[in-house]
Amino acid sequence: MAFEGLAERLQGTLTKIRGKGKVSEQDVKEMMREVRLALLEADVNFKVVKQFIANVREKALGQDVMKSLTPGQQVIKVVNEELTSLMGGEQSKIAVNNKPPTVVMMVGLQGAGKTTTSAKLANHLRKKHNRKPMLVAADIYRPAAIKQLETLGKQLSMPVFSLGDQVSPVEIAKQAIEEAKKEHYDYVLIDTAGRLHVDEQLMNELQQIKEIAKPDEVLLVVDAMTGQDAVNVAESFNEQLDLTGVVLTKLDGDTRGGAAISVKAVTNTPIKFAGMGEKIDQLEPFHPERMASRILG
Ligand code: GDP
Repeated sequence: MAFEGLAERLQGTLTKIRGKGKVSEQDVKEMMREVRLALLEADVNFKVVKQFIANVREKALGQDVMKSLTPGQQVIKVVNEELTSLMGGEQSKIAVNNKPPTVVMMVGLQGAGKTTTSAKLANHLRKKHNRKPMLVAADIYRPAAIKQLETLGKQLSMPVFSLGDQVSPVEIAKQAIEEAKKEHYDYVLIDTAGRLHVDEQLMNELQQIKEIAKPDEVLLVVDAMTGQDAVNVAESFNEQLDLTGVVLTKLDGDTRGGAAISVKAVTNTPIKFAGMGEKIDQLEPFHPERMASRILG
């Protein structure tokens, strides 16, 4: 499971301070040193760590905390609050356009889990929000991507709009949205192409689709297992496409968790969902507070 190492280390560190009736500045300093190391080892971006430590130190050494009856617990509360705020604070919900359909463009590198996540999200919207989504197969380059989406659609009894792999993705997106309007679908989820690396051609095409589709959401799907790479990928996509949200996949794996903790802070783009497994129902809205509590125990 993700965060295991980090959780263990942080919990160990915080236990030392938890029961203390009196906390000295030295105690806080020592604790912060350990927290800093734990975060760096979990592959959290170093700038993010620096800022985090500075925030916690300032608050933890504040008068209210040091003079409280349970300063140890107050310090832990500060760490929890800062970790929550680092990961986005409030849960960030998926957009709803009051003039349907709400258009969601799914973007990301190949293998990140884009196609699977598109189907998972369609399933989530139908099940939890009572919506009527349509999937759009616009990844015409990866062999089998269209077929994969169609298979997932069939499994879910969910319509998949496809024009094969000979029509441009821009045209596919355009026709799909027209069809969705006609058929009164309220979400259109466009599975766009990914590549192995961020490149200009990919970005150009995605920008063209964005121009035509005017999406309410541009969701980047990133693989949490790739650590800092995930953060770099998120930065490039955000520069080019102005993302509205991130979906972190494979949080069920043994990722150290650095991506989950850094992505929001580095890109200022909220994490909206987390992929927790390969199965179609293993997608969860991302709750920063719950995630922080899970890490801190
Ligand atoms: P795409 O190239 O980005 O469209 O990637 P796919 O949707 O084909 O996914 C690539 C692989 O990652 C597949 O084997 C998926 O089953 C797997 N995958 C996607 N999301 C998750 C997740 O949250 N957890 C796990 N364990 N595997 C995932």
